[in-house]
Amino acid sequence: MKTTGYIVKPNVKLELSKYKTDDTGNFKNKNEAEKDLTNNIEEMQKLHDKLYAEDKFSILLIFQAMDAAGKDSTIKHVMSGLNPQGTSVVSFKQPSAEELNHDYLWRCNKALPERGRIGIFNRSYYEEVLVVRVHDLINNQKIPAQLLPPDIWKERYRQISDYEKYLYENGTVILKFFLHVSKDEQKKRFLERIDKQSKNWKFSEADIKERQYWDEYQKCYEEALANTSKKHAPWYVIPADHKWFMRLAVSEIIIATMKKMPIDYPHLDKEQLARLQECKKVLENEK
Ligand code: ATP
Ligand code: MG
Repeated sequence: MKTTGYIVKPNVKLELSKYKTDDTGNFKNKNEAEKDLTNNIEEMQKLHDKLYAEDKFSILLIFQAMDAAGKDSTIKHVMSGLNPQGTSVVSFKQPSAEELNHDYLWRCNKALPERGRIGIFNRSYYEEVLVVRVHDLINNQKIPAQLLPPDIWKERYRQISDYEKYLYENGTVILKFFLHVSKDEQKKRFLERIDKQSKNWKFSEADIKERQYWDEYQKCYEEALANTSKKHAPWYVIPADHKWFMRLAVSEIIIATMKKMPIDYPHLDKEQLARLQECKKVLENEK
């Protein structure tokens, strides 16, 4: 499956309206895609096993989206079957008083995956150039007024890119997914959450309020993605109207990236191999 069309080119103006939300690539329906998703998940399990055993690289997957785009279910499906010991998922909500007493990367930094692990950020420090911008929350953040530049967002894009480069240079591979859902599809999903008892718990009145800021959010996403998509930490705009396709596309991108990583089970040197043989003898000679 070709996913190159979903990557955001660094420093090129991005217009989300030009990215289809209902694309399904060459697939006609869910059944066709299911086999590929299952294969990808199996392959991911194998590569994850090596990543964990080697204990050198880590992988950070960032998910951002408008409400009801399917962050939770994508995370659930794509990560299914992975060794739970080697994964972590962290959701970022409104910052607490303690978090606001630190710089904005502090809480995310603490939540980064350890070496050998795949870590997922369900929302992330990107909220700092999205919700914080849309709702003008910067003044809640206790940053000294003298340090606030005229264009705080440009400054934050630079800080975030520098931070991601630092992580990359220290062994964290970063992939960022914007799950691109249409406004109509969001409405359909909200209505389903209201009508279906089993989905009632997912509905929040606040979601309706945020929906009124749709255009502002899209603009902030466009600017943020264009300014922070880099070779070492690319953004992907994933069509999200068809959940089955979204999951497949995300899994394809993860697999393609993991395949390119130089990960393998640790190789023992001569001395260590000889030591293994000695241990074998001890076990075999046990009475
Ligand atoms: P779901 O609705 O599927 O459970 P969610 O990620 O929308 O998942 P909510 O608890 O509904 O979770 O919302 C979390 C809210 O926290 C979002 O509206 C998000 O914009 C907000 N948030 C996250 N980070 C920040 C931040 N740094 N500053 C302000 N608000 C933030
Ligand atoms: Mg929500």
